[in-house]
Amino acid sequence: MTEIFTGSFTQQEPIPEAGIEAAIDVLRHGRLHRYNTAPNEISHTALLEQEFAATVGAKYCLAVASGGYAMGTALRAVGVKPGDKVLSNAFTLAPVPGAIASVGAVPVFVGVTESLTIDLDDLATKLDQARVLLLSHMRGHICDMDRLMAMCDGAGVVVIEDCAHTMGAAWDGVPSGRQGTIGCYSCQTYKHVNSGEGGFLVTDDPHLAATAVMLSGSYMLFERHLAAPPKEAFADLKYTTPNISGRMDNLRAAILRPQVQDLAKQCARWNERYYALEQGLRDTPGLTIVERHPKETIVGSSIQFLLLDWASAAVQDVISRCAARGVELKWFGAREPVAFTSRYDSWRYAPSTPMEASDRILAGVVDMRVPLTFSLEDCALIARIIRSEVSAVYQLSAESVS
Ligand SMILES: *Cc1c(COP(=O)(O)O)cnc(C)c1O
Repeated sequence: MTEIFTGSFTQQEPIPEAGIEAAIDVLRHGRLHRYNTAPNEISHTALLEQEFAATVGAKYCLAVASGGYAMGTALRAVGVKPGDKVLSNAFTLAPVPGAIASVGAVPVFVGVTESLTIDLDDLATKLDQARVLLLSHMRGHICDMDRLMAMCDGAGVVVIEDCAHTMGAAWDGVPSGRQGTIGCYSCQTYKHVNSGEGGFLVTDDPHLAATAVMLSGSYMLFERHLAAPPKEAFADLKYTTPNISGRMDNLRAAILRPQVQDLAKQCARWNERYYALEQGLRDTPGLTIVERHPKETIVGSSIQFLLLDWASAAVQDVISRCAARGVELKWFGAREPVAFTSRYDSWRYAPSTPMEASDRILAGVVDMRVPLTFSLEDCALIARIIRSEVSAVYQLSAESVS
């Protein structure tokens, strides 16, 4: 019997009841704007910022309209100007180079390793080209942060971390987003907390935090924040910082607060699913597991494997066969960008030169979302399906070669 999976790869869990109730309460009183508060009321947005700052151990936190907005704001806050170059990953999602382009800056792409992390040897050769690195922990893979921070600190390069896929993850026990100068997170539906759209920016630097608050459109109401620096930090900034509105609102914050409280528990559930899939895929002929570094605390909200040096047609065959059995895989090696699978050479507004070693890896990256609506049995079944189709195609291509 041919097994088929019938679940949905895009169905997330419902919003926790406490979030639904809090959201209805906000709808009933109508004060959705973060600075629209009754006397003595503290807004959900301000409380959410305080709670998220505590979760990652940051001094300051600003909640904003999206992860992309958080990155653009971080780049502006550290002083990136039109025409500046900004180092970033060749393997990431479109909002990352998009954030660089949004401030008129130009990405300098750094290659990817078989661990799916930024290639630190390639970075070493490019460090002198920019004074900022927008580091994307793409698909939750965290590079050797000890080495990366030593390199960047040594070269005077400011690190901004894109933690869209590492909210709740850590390197050597340090929450992801807390090694760079600024950490950025997304609260978009497919990330680790879900308010449809939304994001956070965290930092310990009072000047950068105050700048970000002003940029986000705080008018002169910054004293209503609970996770912003004291008003002295705004003294001069408030006259010179443009308002580029991108605030979080109280409805989204109400939905997010219980999710931030549940984050650690949810991350553990993702990892159970991730390791069930990984175990089911291990030792499949032709398939390379992406091994995780012992210092990484992961959040397995998606899983990747490599079909390294496979012919494109064979990879495409695996994708189609799995799709026919209900398993939705994404491939970063396709010639045309499909859904979220674009690459550095898809972003034609940004100059790039081909990176042979990275292209070889990207051509083999297969990706799968792991929503929490999957049971552990679902994960075991999905792994069996992938395993059988990869093995079958691998066998066929071996036969055609011999
Ligand atoms: C989703 C995502 C972001 C930010 O996305 P928004 O949709 O703007 O919240 C940033 N980086 C990566 C790698 C992402 O996947």
